[in-house]
Amino acid sequence: MRILLVEDDALLGDGVRAGLKQAGFAVDWTQDGLAAKLALETEAYDLIVLDLGLPKLSGTELLKWLRSSHFKVPVLVLTARDTVSDRVSGLNAGADDYLIKPFDLDELIARLNALLRRSAGLVTMTIQHSDIVLTPSTHHVSKDGQTIELSAREFTLLHELLLHVGRVQSREQLEQHLYGWGEEVESNSVEVHIHHLRKKLGSELIRTLRGVGYVIDKEDTSR
Ligand code: CA
Repeated sequence: MRILLVEDDALLGDGVRAGLKQAGFAVDWTQDGLAAKLALETEAYDLIVLDLGLPKLSGTELLKWLRSSHFKVPVLVLTARDTVSDRVSGLNAGADDYLIKPFDLDELIARLNALLRRSAGLVTMTIQHSDIVLTPSTHHVSKDGQTIELSAREFTLLHELLLHVGRVQSREQLEQHLYGWGEEVESNSVEVHIHHLRKKLGSELIRTLRGVGYVIDKEDTSR
């Protein structure tokens, strides 16, 4: 999952970025509203964490632009305790959730996972597909009741494919969820992670469409 973090406070931004990376997200961090707008115009994100008080272009203005441009990406707004009116205007402008500073990093991660589930139209805390169960909040995967150990990137890939069952995603699309800015993309890394996922979860789970991409097919419920 790839996150755009927009926060002009260097200390807070650095801490949040580190925490989110630790939790397995790929994070791009910008420190002003215009840089965030440029990033949104050129990259694909799964989530945005947005401070409202920003230089160059405020978070509220960025949100208004985002929604008027029909970006569907979920936005969690960060706001100071003393700016309740900011918070209200942020939510009116199209934020999906907000957190008041100072906040707990675990709380932020839990909220982001909830937004991801909601945006994928999933209401449960876990994603189940045949005998595989994935729990985003705890990064846990099991197959037939047995815990399966996955690396952070294998987990992210599986999560992304399971959120969009039946939809083919290209290697480039999947790579975007694995890497943030400045992180070197290892060649063939998607292929390698898919290979490992198949070894751990069964060769038939993820289907390759040669030259197109990868898909987890919808479960056949007719049987
Ligand atoms: Ca700020």
